[in-house]
Amino acid sequence: MSEKVKQVLSMAKDKEVQMVDIKFIDMPGTWQHFSVPMTEFDEGTFTEGLGFDGSSIRGFKAINESDMILIPDPDTAIIDPFCEVPTMSIICNIYDPLTGEKYNRDPRIIAQKAEEYLRETGIADTSYWGPEAEFFIFDSVSFDQNQHSGYYFIDSEEGAWNSGRMEGGPNLGYRPRYKEGYFPVAPVDSMQNLRTEMVLTMQKCGIVVEAQHHEVATAGQAEIDMKFAPLVKMADQLMLFKYIIKNTAVKYGKTATFMPKPLFLDNGSGMHVHQSLWKDGQPLFFDADGYAGLSETALYYIGGILKHAPALSALCNTTTNSFKRLVPGFEAPVSLVYSKRNRSASIRIPMYSNNPKAKRIELRFPDPTCNPYLAFSAMLMAGIDGIQNKIHPGNALEKDMYELTPEEAAEIKSLPVSLEGALKALEADHGFLLKGGVFDKDLLETWIEYKMTREVDAVRKRPHPYEFMLYFDC
Ligand code: GLU
Ligand code: MG
Ligand code: MG
Repeated sequence: MSEKVKQVLSMAKDKEVQMVDIKFIDMPGTWQHFSVPMTEFDEGTFTEGLGFDGSSIRGFKAINESDMILIPDPDTAIIDPFCEVPTMSIICNIYDPLTGEKYNRDPRIIAQKAEEYLRETGIADTSYWGPEAEFFIFDSVSFDQNQHSGYYFIDSEEGAWNSGRMEGGPNLGYRPRYKEGYFPVAPVDSMQNLRTEMVLTMQKCGIVVEAQHHEVATAGQAEIDMKFAPLVKMADQLMLFKYIIKNTAVKYGKTATFMPKPLFLDNGSGMHVHQSLWKDGQPLFFDADGYAGLSETALYYIGGILKHAPALSALCNTTTNSFKRLVPGFEAPVSLVYSKRNRSASIRIPMYSNNPKAKRIELRFPDPTCNPYLAFSAMLMAGIDGIQNKIHPGNALEKDMYELTPEEAAEIKSLPVSLEGALKALEADHGFLLKGGVFDKDLLETWIEYKMTREVDAVRKRPHPYEFMLYFDC
């Protein structure tokens, strides 16, 4: 029995665990689960696995080939902070029971392959990831879609603030003014205690948190930042992070959403992703003489990301709502350029520190609805492609991208404006993802087909509230 498995079983004993919650990730990026009593879970479970029916899971197998096996990863065991009886939560990898092979559509397996491929290339042995997933906290009692869709009818910032929902009860004197949520103290910030409880719960579950704060938007927007970690570990953590945020909010009669643009005319929720490559314990992105302290490797990595950005956005901005966030004026990027400090560029080079170990790039277009296993893997593969093919990103742009003249704007490439556009870009440009067998065609085709039919078409075919405003009296 491996040391790790021993530790997990002895933790279960110490904590008097009665249930084990078996978790895995579906293709769109949601945790799925079932539980087994601790009496049914032992050393053998880590090799034999647990069977489940994959046919009812979004994006997985057809009904005639649906038996699948989950193998728990002992590195992921924690005590679930929300269960009433002591329950151990553990994340699994998915296998085909007939062939014994790893399941090609398991996002976690794809992420493991991406880490492996990075090592195989010899470029680096580790990639570090620091996602800043923003979210909104609303009162669940007052959150109803009809009231909410009122935002569609507002067409000025003043109007948005006056009719915007408030946080923290009815005292209108202490609500954040339009776009001033970032970050006056209480009582204007009424979410301090809630965010703190989220952070303490994260710490209990082994997540290292660096900071929590209110974000820019008027109504209860928040951010909690985790310390960077390697790719698969960070994707696992991000799943747990969202689980803790949503369940803590529910405990307080609130509802938390990672939807990228819940409010028209206010800032949306992004998930900027800080990333860097390391080899033999040394950072590869730093060079004191380079632009913004960046090494040539970092520049090529940026070149790869910017080249493949339209395709990447199909895996980093994975909802129709994602593209309502990617518009000028709300600190979300539109232009495919890089720049130091500039928050209107797709890639920002943070300049807070001169420490070589802190040198990283911040990719700003992703949002927290993505499947982090697929999104991180795809970004890494684009960066690797840039390094392998020495794709130079050109010069940095120091300007405010929201204020470009039409001539300047014509020179600059932009992100797709819709999920449909992003999926078409992925269809046309995905060779960089197939390298080393990390992604396979079946997974990408399934992704495109799923998103086109279940989301793009489903939204396109429904009358939009704003169409009533425009056309009802025609
Ligand atoms: N909420 C902004 C976005 O949609 C980002 C704000 C910030 O710079 O943290 O990306
Ligand atoms: Mg932020
Ligand atoms: Mg940021």
